Order: sequence, then structure tokens, then C-alpha cells
Amino acid sequence: MSTLRVTDLHASYGPMKVLHGVSFNVGDGQVTALLGPNGAGKTTALRAICGTVRSSGTIELDGEVLAQRSATRMARLGVAHVPEGRGTFGEFTVLENLRLGGYSRKDSLDESIEQVFDWFPRLRERMTQVAGSLSGGEQQMLAIARALLLRPRLLLLDEPSQGLAPTVTADVYRILRDLQQSLGTTILVVEQNARAALRLADQAFVLESGRLVLGGPASEIAADESVRRSYLGY
Ligand code: ATP
Repeated sequence: MSTLRVTDLHASYGPMKVLHGVSFNVGDGQVTALLGPNGAGKTTALRAICGTVRSSGTIELDGEVLAQRSATRMARLGVAHVPEGRGTFGEFTVLENLRLGGYSRKDSLDESIEQVFDWFPRLRERMTQVAGSLSGGEQQMLAIARALLLRPRLLLLDEPSQGLAPTVTADVYRILRDLQQSLGTTILVVEQNARAALRLADQAFVLESGRLVLGGPASEIAADESVRRSYLGY
């Protein structure tokens, strides 16, 4: 079964078309990477899936076509989105950010926050610190932690490596791998840092100028030097 099926996705900002008929699947319990250069339309693809940009095409989640997509509806369906720039509240503490993120939860939020702190011990150490004074890596961890409080079946991540040093990127990706392996969360990650994303992903797709130019098992793409050079710049 495929968790997310994207078919013939078109998206535009006003008169400017950005996606020109993109189709791909995100396998259940797998990590799928959407790669490509600056401006290729990766962020727009995530926005179109979440319904925050004008788009056409079909988005199916576990076989159900999602015609109306709003942030609230997607959250209710178990789709968590960690946007580019992370979307945390800089003037609030780590703990307050987590409480806000889990506000829709009816059961014990404190218990879930404790579980999330087990995944991110650094955040437990810094729970009374305001988010704006965290390091870039810690802010990224906070954004992921907040998304996990929704217990998502599908986690959408926009450039988790952005602005992070390579060792911090490796830390964030290691945590994502652990999460995926132990919770079985399905992940769609958008990345310019193809090298980092391919280490985590099961499958990958490459977007260029709003069109998919390549797709397949991540290990095969990573192993093919000419593909890496031509499409991924490393
Ligand atoms: P990056 O890695 O640089 O974020 P990307 O692949 O995620 O790139 P998008 O952010 O989806 O690319 O942008 C695709 C195109 O759409 C770009 O040409 C960009 O300038 C344009 N674009 C993005 N957001 C908007 C917006 N809100 N209004 C108008 N044009 C936009």
C-alpha cells in the first residue's frame, strides 16, 4: 500500500507556473526524498500537498482522495508538516512551543512531551530556554519534536539540513532514521542536500524546473556517479 500518492500535480503563484505535472508515491513506512536544485519547486510541492498553494492534480492518502486540504484537516488526518525555516515561536520557551504544538491532543500531553524529550535529550536540557536563542540544529530538532506530538502517520520535512553544519545535519538525520525505524513513521523529505537525504531515504525523486527527471531506489541513485554529477551536483 502506498501512503501518499501524488498524481499530475500542477501548482502556480499567480500567473507563474512552478509545477508542471509531477507524480510520485511515498511508500508506507518508508523515507522518500524529493531532491533538486534551488528553485526547482520542492517547497512548492510540499505546499501543494498541504493545500497552502493553488494547485491541481490528485493527492491520495491511504487510498482516500484529499480534495479539500487545509492545515487543520491535514493535521487531523495525521499529516505533520515541518516547514522551511522551522516555524517555531522564537519568543516562547522550548516547553511552551511543544505545548502549543500539541494543543489539539486530548490525552496526556505531558506524557507525550516526556516521550519526545527521550528522543531529543538536548531539548529536555533546554526546555526553559526561549526557542529563538537555540542553535540552528536545536531549533530543527524542536520543530521535528513538535510535529511528532501529533503522532503523524506522514511527516513532511522541508530542508531539515538548511543552515546546519554537516555534523549537526548528520545528528538530525540520525534521529530521523531512529524515529522511522522505531515508530514506522512515513517520511517525505525535501532536500537540496542530496548526499544527506540519500543516506536516509529508501527512494528518491529529482525535480528540475518543476518536472521530475529521475526517480528510483535511493541506494541506486547514490551509487551512480554520473547521475549524482548530472542531477545532484556532487
Ligand atoms: P529552494 O531549495 O531554493 O527552497 P525549491 O525547490 O524549494 O527551492 P520553491 O521554493 O518551490 O523551490 O520555488 C519554486 C519557484 O517558485 C521559484 O522560482 C520561486 O521563486 C517561486 N516561488 C516560491 N514561493 C513563491 C511565492 N510565494 N510567490 C511567488 N513565487 C514563489
